[in-house]
Amino acid sequence: MSDTDNIGDVPAPSRLLARLSGRTDGLADLYRHLHAHPELSFGETRTAGLVAERLRGLGMDVTTGLGRTGVVGVLDNGDGPNLLLRADFDGLPVTEQTRLPYASETAGVMHACGHDMHVTCLLGALDLLVQGKAYWAGKISAVFQPAEEIGSGAQAMVDDGLFDTIGKPDIVLGQHVGPFPAGTIGCHAGPALAATDALKVTLHGKGAHGSRPEAAIDPVVMAASTVMRLQTVVSREIAGGDTAVVTVGALNAGTKDNVIPDTAVLKINIRTYDEAVRKTVLNAVKRIIEGEAAVAGATRSPDCEPIDTFPALVNDESAVARTLAAFRDHFGETQVFDPGPATGSEDCGVFGTASDTPVCYWFFGGIDPETYAKAQRSGTVNRDIPSNHSPYFAPVIEPTLSTGVEAMTVAALTWLSGRGNRFG
Ligand SMILES: [Zn+2]
Ligand SMILES: [Zn+2]
Repeated sequence: MSDTDNIGDVPAPSRLLARLSGRTDGLADLYRHLHAHPELSFGETRTAGLVAERLRGLGMDVTTGLGRTGVVGVLDNGDGPNLLLRADFDGLPVTEQTRLPYASETAGVMHACGHDMHVTCLLGALDLLVQGKAYWAGKISAVFQPAEEIGSGAQAMVDDGLFDTIGKPDIVLGQHVGPFPAGTIGCHAGPALAATDALKVTLHGKGAHGSRPEAAIDPVVMAASTVMRLQTVVSREIAGGDTAVVTVGALNAGTKDNVIPDTAVLKINIRTYDEAVRKTVLNAVKRIIEGEAAVAGATRSPDCEPIDTFPALVNDESAVARTLAAFRDHFGETQVFDPGPATGSEDCGVFGTASDTPVCYWFFGGIDPETYAKAQRSGTVNRDIPSNHSPYFAPVIEPTLSTGVEAMTVAALTWLSGRGNRFG
């Protein structure tokens, strides 16, 4: 935070929001429009165009095409902290089954993760912040990110000069809609979402007739012992109190019983929460792959290519404490909870690590509270409540939308400087 920040002068966000209420009309229509027109990762050109137009309408400085399809809107409103507010905007290759009147009109593509809600909520929050700009000072950098679902969009924007455009932020704020009661907010301090590393490993042997092992270097046996040895990474190299998962999800080699193939291919998925643990696991996996190939007498080292990579999302403890205090004030004590660490992955943390900035990332509920309570009473939450990536995932528009707009606005106002006590 900069020295100019003085939390005591920030107007109570709820009071400002009350003063601005009624300004979110039209957001539900925008949400339905976005939901009906999802686009896949790095193909979000229509969405990007719509976002850029809205940002220009709000009087923000707009940069498009950052990280291929990313859009950034900047509003400089005097000396004060620089806030990076983030929404992702890609859909998924899922065929929608919700039967909603505003269901996807694009075959095989769906906003099944709720990124359409993130875009709508951030645009709604920016609208409120622009309307209320007499009450705060600082800079807002709204980052609309492509390709979250393939773990590449945040890095693409960073590589394309995001921080040259917006400068170094003082805080990164982001949110995700999830399968719990609308009107509630969940946030976990520390490692909140797991890192994922997916690797494709090609083991090189030497093919021969199945009757002549002496003429071969058998990649099937090499693969088998590699898979078995990989089981010792978590059990023998990771401390009992740390978490790591190593899964070999695919093992492909050969075509016929009497042909020793040339190669074998493994696909490995690794989940961790801690960067040191992640490095230990990755190093161990690579060492074992190389080692087993050498033991088998391979004449060529295995090829190891990353498929997908998501770093862990680590929420800054004091940033979470400050933001959640504002959420409790605004939404009420019982509406804010700690969901614990989640096994999903999310690349919003890249903006924090790339700029050495604390991150606060929270979830807001998207399920009708009565529907959720009913499922909870009958013990069927997992069966009856569709979650993100399901073809049935359908956040109830209200109070989900208002909650997301208010959460982002309240969080932003909590981190911006106040302008005296103009709010009365
Ligand atoms: Zn997703
Ligand atoms: Zn998502």
